[in-house]
Amino acid sequence: MSSKIHSVVIVGFGGMGSYHAKLIKETNSLEVVGTYDLLEARRADSINAGYKVYESYEEVLADPAVEIVLIATPNDVHKEIAIRALQAGKHVICEKPVAMSKEELQDMLDAADAAGRVFMVHQNRRWDEDFLTIKKMYDQETIGSLFQLESRVHGANGIPGDWRHVKAQGGGMLLDWGVHLLDQLLFMIDSKVISVSSSLSFILGNDVDDGFEAILQFENGIKAIVEVGTTNFITLPRWYVKGIEGTGIIEDWSLTGRLVTRNNEGEKIEPKPIRAGVGLTKTMAPPSEGATITETLPQPAELGSSFYDNFAAVIEGTAEPIVKNAEVMRVQNLIEAIFESAEKNQVVKDFDMYGEGK
Ligand code: NAD
Repeated sequence: MSSKIHSVVIVGFGGMGSYHAKLIKETNSLEVVGTYDLLEARRADSINAGYKVYESYEEVLADPAVEIVLIATPNDVHKEIAIRALQAGKHVICEKPVAMSKEELQDMLDAADAAGRVFMVHQNRRWDEDFLTIKKMYDQETIGSLFQLESRVHGANGIPGDWRHVKAQGGGMLLDWGVHLLDQLLFMIDSKVISVSSSLSFILGNDVDDGFEAILQFENGIKAIVEVGTTNFITLPRWYVKGIEGTGIIEDWSLTGRLVTRNNEGEKIEPKPIRAGVGLTKTMAPPSEGATITETLPQPAELGSSFYDNFAAVIEGTAEPIVKNAEVMRVQNLIEAIFESAEKNQVVKDFDMYGEGK
């Protein structure tokens, strides 16, 4: 629990910046005291929402009442805004993807170290209930030890907005949704990624990827398939996970799903062969009655604190960050390996999984 309310200025008061303002209102640890945006329309939105509007970024940095700069601009300007804030003695919350490259991220981390300020990336999907349900299954081996995870998000609306179409601004779906799905996997699975095979899609003819598929092989034997699509008029389940004792599925954001596990009690009855297409199969026949148990999903794991409360506690020196910068660097390195695999049409191995930020 935070001992005081820390003041925040939101830089970039667009879709996500205004969503932060709404969420921060619900906390007792942070308070938005103002915003800064380049666009007049966004300034007007901010005034309507009751926030002070700063006329320039210099004005934000010069204001001693501002403890925290929250960056919610397009991705290409995160680095400069973050470093200037850190050098001015502000703590920084930065939106994902944190940077355009691992070199940019390293510069940001160096600036945070030099200034002795807190720098934390808003990898908020670590708090998603669908992910935390899978994390519980992974940690507690609810369906036995997991050997394969499939994590997908599918839409049918193409790439949204303006700058998300522009490569130089950090557009594309790998940097947009990919960073969330990869962050979740690396946060959950405590093992090194030893190989990456991927392809990007350009179905709608943009300069940037409108989706991708990546197969990650972890050192501990787990395989993960990650897929983002924006031309999927029928969606596949959000999660499909296989353990040695069962299979789990989460269909959607409402956590529609189930677990089916092997029933180790009672007599083992062989499945009966079925007709499949024009053939006959016993291998692919449904398990015989009583051979499996269907259960509801477990309760999600808990992270103990919200992102904002954790950030306030880190500033106060009473907690460790839930989103650690070394983890963010691992994700950045993995993203670069995925781009490389897609570009070369090759499996990428032996990439620098930990990088400088370890
Ligand atoms: P957006 O286009 O809706 O808003 C960006 C705003 O930044 C605009 O109002 C723009 O005028 C302003 N801006 C641009 N350059 C600026 C500068 N130099 N100084 C001040 N303001 C500037 O974009 P968005 O969807 O809100 O995305 C913003 C960031 O948030 C991106 O990094 C994106 O990846 C991230 N995001 C994160 C999540 C999440 O769940 N964590 C969700 C959506 C977006």
